[in-house]
Amino acid sequence: MREMNFNTNTVHFQTKEPSRNASKAKPIYQTSAFVFTDLDDMESFYEGEKEYLYSRYSNPNTDDLGKGVALLEETDDGVATSSGMSAILAGVLAIANPGDHLLASDDLYGGTYQLFAQELLNFGIDVSFVSFQSINTVKEAFTDKTVLIYTESVTNPLLRVENLEEVIALAKEKGVKTMIDNTFATPYLLKPATLGADLVVHSATKYIGGHSDVTAGVLVGEQELINKARGKVITLGCNLSPFEAWLACRGLKTLSIRMERQSHNAKVLAKALEAHEGVERVFYPKDVSEKGNGAMVSVDLADHVNVEQFFRSLDWVKIAPTLAGVETTVSYPLRTSHRTIPDELRKELGIGKQLVRISVGIEDERDIVEAFVKAIEKAK
Ligand SMILES: *Cc1c(COP(=O)(O)O)cnc(C)c1O
Repeated sequence: MREMNFNTNTVHFQTKEPSRNASKAKPIYQTSAFVFTDLDDMESFYEGEKEYLYSRYSNPNTDDLGKGVALLEETDDGVATSSGMSAILAGVLAIANPGDHLLASDDLYGGTYQLFAQELLNFGIDVSFVSFQSINTVKEAFTDKTVLIYTESVTNPLLRVENLEEVIALAKEKGVKTMIDNTFATPYLLKPATLGADLVVHSATKYIGGHSDVTAGVLVGEQELINKARGKVITLGCNLSPFEAWLACRGLKTLSIRMERQSHNAKVLAKALEAHEGVERVFYPKDVSEKGNGAMVSVDLADHVNVEQFFRSLDWVKIAPTLAGVETTVSYPLRTSHRTIPDELRKELGIGKQLVRISVGIEDERDIVEAFVKAIEKAK
């Protein structure tokens, strides 16, 4: 490198872009922008020949995540976002305009409920929340302004498995779009786009990342809708940072083996807890896929089990208001994810004070079962 003066060297010390052999691990393109050799070179971005200009628009690491999840979900394209919430917002805004109506399940992630009930109104989008347990209820809630049906493939925290075929068939019959939150199932178990869903959204904070070290979202689906959603992400500035995208991509590589082990452990735990007299009811999904039913187990503890004492007695199992990491964790929906849901609706949904949600990790199944059985015994 050419010797220059100190202040200049401080900024320009790095070697030029490689003509060396490529690194095995993907580099992190921790850059806000990309450089050009001359004005024609810069023009080539606008003509679609060069991919990158400015990281808020796109970046190799965020593209990896968006396109990687799109590949796994077997759909056209994807865009990575700053969180699951912003992925949901970008997806909705790609479809709904002011004056439009959105039909959503009443059994949604708390944050999504809040986004729909409070924020979408400011965009002039009206939302109805209805039970998706019967397709007729959904049908009856249609208005002539409805443009989108929104639900989760496996619901939180009661782990109800939505009949996506039925929902998508109804949407097609009515000529409206469908958007599915596939966070809990992941494309390892279920691929809503292959059933005809137009958009699929993930909180990549959960199983896509898998290590509880990143907050991120991904929206995947039909090309035209993803193009529109990408425009929203760019303008709203809810893009993902390159490093966060890199972390999520590193996590994604082990999705299959994590889901395989975690689903297995969850099945074993659900069975053990079903047999325990300190447990009133176990919520563990059935028939999600032939590969398993996911790694979440919710339980209603029996009335004679003290919930506070149970949470204090869990030993190495930590209380965490999230899910999907490699460590087994527990959460208390009443005071976390479902805090903002109106009491009335919460009761209707069956989210009560004895309900505990377990995110099962990759540890030894015997240790997981023992930790929970011991905690229940101590709390009786
Ligand atoms: C966590 C979660 C979200 C929100 O994702 P963030 O990454 O926290 O913004 C949305 N949907 C489901 C099902 C979730 O579990």
